[in-house]
Amino acid sequence: MQLFHHNPNCSINPDWLTVRAISLIPQSSVGRLASSTAPASPAGYLVNVRESGGNMGVEGKIIGVDLDGVCSDFYKRMREIAAEWLECKIEDLTPEVSYGLGEWGITTEDQYSSLHRFAVTQRDLFKTSDMIPGARKYLRMLSDEGARIRIITHRLFIHYFHHTAVSQTIEWLDSNGIPYWDLCFMKQKEQVGADIYIEDSPTNVESLRNKGCLTICFGNSTNVQVAKPRVKSWSEAYKLIHSQFD
Ligand SMILES: [Mg+2]
Repeated sequence: MQLFHHNPNCSINPDWLTVRAISLIPQSSVGRLASSTAPASPAGYLVNVRESGGNMGVEGKIIGVDLDGVCSDFYKRMREIAAEWLECKIEDLTPEVSYGLGEWGITTEDQYSSLHRFAVTQRDLFKTSDMIPGARKYLRMLSDEGARIRIITHRLFIHYFHHTAVSQTIEWLDSNGIPYWDLCFMKQKEQVGADIYIEDSPTNVESLRNKGCLTICFGNSTNVQVAKPRVKSWSEAYKLIHSQFD
């Protein structure tokens, strides 16, 4: 089943949705496979035909995964820190915040940068945030199934504390048992060439989709207006990814 419309700019080729998956394996290297029913070709290769009906599942697929709001509960931890920063009760800060934190009185880019800098450098934001439930379990399942987990984050958008931001990020990923092959700190997420993206920022979702990239919106209060495909949990994300590639 294919849930997304194909765009010619997308990295997924629709052909593999309809043809049987074929791989060529040198006879000299296959051992046990040589006794299988797969026929030997004149060129000395076994033709290994999958009989699953077409698609290859998630094996070999690159899953581009955002961190804040997708794996890391950025807004929950930021709310705690913002209450300190603003010297107010945490109850006075709605958890149903929109992108940019305007509901908390953060209205300018400078105000956001100051809070963000305080949060990362003085309160270890990127190291102390909770993991969003399911991220470890379902990313590990996808990884075990052969998908390549590529973490993509724009956490370096404020200058002069990159070492701190990167160190906290790596520590957090390891301590939370998040499997990944690649860790990309970059804004232009489409340039990493993932087969499918999981992202919560409304701007990033729109930008990726406009460039033809298959993008699942990971739902939270900042993106309620973003269209489908969207999910509310990692279990839903896992099923949706499989429904695309199986
Ligand atoms: Mg995010």
